[in-house]
Amino acid sequence: MINEFKIKQEICEIGHRIYAKGFAAANDGNISYRISDNEVLCTPTQMSKGLLKPDDICKVDMTGRQIAGRRKRTSEVLLHLEIYKLDPSLKAVVHCHPPHATAFAVAGEPIPTCILPEVEVFLGPIPQTTYETPGGEAFAQTIKPHVKSAKVVVLRNHGTVSWGDTLEHAYWWTEILDAYCRILLLAKQIGRVDRIAVPKVEELLDLKEKFGMGVDPRRLESADMCVNTEFGRGFADSSCGCGKSDGAAASGEAPALSEEEIERIVQEITDRIMAAGSK
Ligand SMILES: [Zn+2]
Repeated sequence: MINEFKIKQEICEIGHRIYAKGFAAANDGNISYRISDNEVLCTPTQMSKGLLKPDDICKVDMTGRQIAGRRKRTSEVLLHLEIYKLDPSLKAVVHCHPPHATAFAVAGEPIPTCILPEVEVFLGPIPQTTYETPGGEAFAQTIKPHVKSAKVVVLRNHGTVSWGDTLEHAYWWTEILDAYCRILLLAKQIGRVDRIAVPKVEELLDLKEKFGMGVDPRRLESADMCVNTEFGRGFADSSCGCGKSDGAAASGEAPALSEEEIERIVQEITDRIMAAGSK
């Protein structure tokens, strides 16, 4: 028999953590947990995740209809329900706006892979959804293509959503992703982002399978191992175009002159020397 109160307490704890990490300003973010085939506990609308108490948690059915709780449920629970419907093994969903991952969502920049071992093992490639107005059914549908192949996605111009077998795990994927995005942005500021060689990434994916964490979607789909290889290429790398000269002025070489121009300059210099000598 599931202890509903304990689950509510755990939802509040995760809420306090996402608020403390700066992943959810004001009343941002929402968290849910599936307690039975047709019942889901979720956070209320218009409330800071930093102040949640078990009594604030709502209960909805799988259509999103509220069936318990003194506060009104979050409108974004429809997104959570879509995830639960697609994978019956999933129990918990965390949605918030962690700044570093959301920066990638706002810039429309794919999150690069082949950079940090933990991210390769725990997360793999991070999909990005298409943009939709938050809260409605169309918004919920944007997640559909990614639930089977990922644990966390970036919601375009919005934030992130992650899921798992427990609330703790669902939260972990968000925390790992935001820490990763922060490191990427810092490294890019230093100057360049180096990549792990593909054979070494393959070793990490072997470990992932050995740990029972499943087959990486890049292997299942025979996709390229390294996503967004252009991200953070250094200035020394000619592919960014920064190290190439696009004209004599950029390279520091003297510009090419015509014979007439050379003659004119030589004449001018000669005239000036003669003039100086006659003084
Ligand atoms: Zn949101």
